Amino acid sequence: MKKYNFNAGPSMLPREVIEKTAQQCLDFNGSGLSLMEISHRAKDFQPVVDEAVALVKELLQVPEGYSVIFLGGGASLEFCMIPYNFLIKKAAYLNTGVWAKKAMKEAKLFGEVVEVASSADANYTFIPKDWTVPADVDYLHITTNNTIYGTEMRKDLDVNVPLIADMSSDIFSRPIDVKKYDAIYAGAQKNLAMAGVTIVIVKDEKLGKAPREIPTMLDYRTHVEKGSMFNTPPVVPIYSALETLRWIKKNGGVETMDKLAQKRAEIVYGEIDRNKLFRGTAATEDRSLMNICFVMNDEYKELEKEFLDFAVSKGMVGVKGHRSVGGFRASCYNAQTIEGCEALVACMKEFEAKH
Ligand code: PMP
Repeated sequence: MKKYNFNAGPSMLPREVIEKTAQQCLDFNGSGLSLMEISHRAKDFQPVVDEAVALVKELLQVPEGYSVIFLGGGASLEFCMIPYNFLIKKAAYLNTGVWAKKAMKEAKLFGEVVEVASSADANYTFIPKDWTVPADVDYLHITTNNTIYGTEMRKDLDVNVPLIADMSSDIFSRPIDVKKYDAIYAGAQKNLAMAGVTIVIVKDEKLGKAPREIPTMLDYRTHVEKGSMFNTPPVVPIYSALETLRWIKKNGGVETMDKLAQKRAEIVYGEIDRNKLFRGTAATEDRSLMNICFVMNDEYKELEKEFLDFAVSKGMVGVKGHRSVGGFRASCYNAQTIEGCEALVACMKEFEAKH
């Protein structure tokens, strides 16, 4: 039976990315050695990093004055590296979910943290609006896509202070205006690569301003100066990121990714709104195109387990919602297909017909 992968992360990647990465793991560039057993300083590996950096810059139209680096440690390490490097006295955070809260927790180790707004009381089912940022903060931190709750900020904010964004679960799903940000970071294991690498885009002139000693590995300048090669980088994950970046370019870039994401979301949300058994959990205007969260309507609540089992029997993988939200979550990152979304819809329809 064909499997449809709706995992929230690590998640579905384009088949050709997996095949090409697997091929290089068997024989890297015809060298007779595996990608897993070559030195990151081998002359064949530098072009991998160079091309990956160049493609990130091209696809996101990164302006001059920004560096792109690949790090280990996941987005969770960036929760600490961001304030280590950028927080001078005071930072603002928009609390849109567990990941934002974790980022805020780390920032509190380095200075004053202002929570500009929070939707915690509503279990993060919407993105707070109408808040203001104190003019004297060093930056405002946002999470553009809230993987667990299925809310997303799909427009680059206009704010009066430097902006820093965790884009772990929606980077490369739409065009962004990089010049509005001082830093952007993303764990790659959703839209970009296998787990193990984090992509960071930083504005060079903003580095080195924080009034503290920064351990070498946690200082962005170290990795910028050494081109992500200060220590051994995650070689295979970076290679898989390169193949995904090539795939995005070949398929029309982030503009096309955006159109496809909208199309997929229309298909799945359309069915959630139509089907008497289900309802979406996120506020309509904040619905994520990447993580589509829904539950059984109240009068059908007792069918939740039965639907999950039914979905699994139809080949749907990873549609169980995060434990803090319950219900279901269909993650539709760039690699998700229209066919996958239609298969999920057919499964929801068939289940409805049974009840
Ligand atoms: N931010 C967001 C938005 C996420 O979805 C996640 C992981 N699901 C993280 C941060 C943490 O990422 P990592 O596991 O790479 O540390």
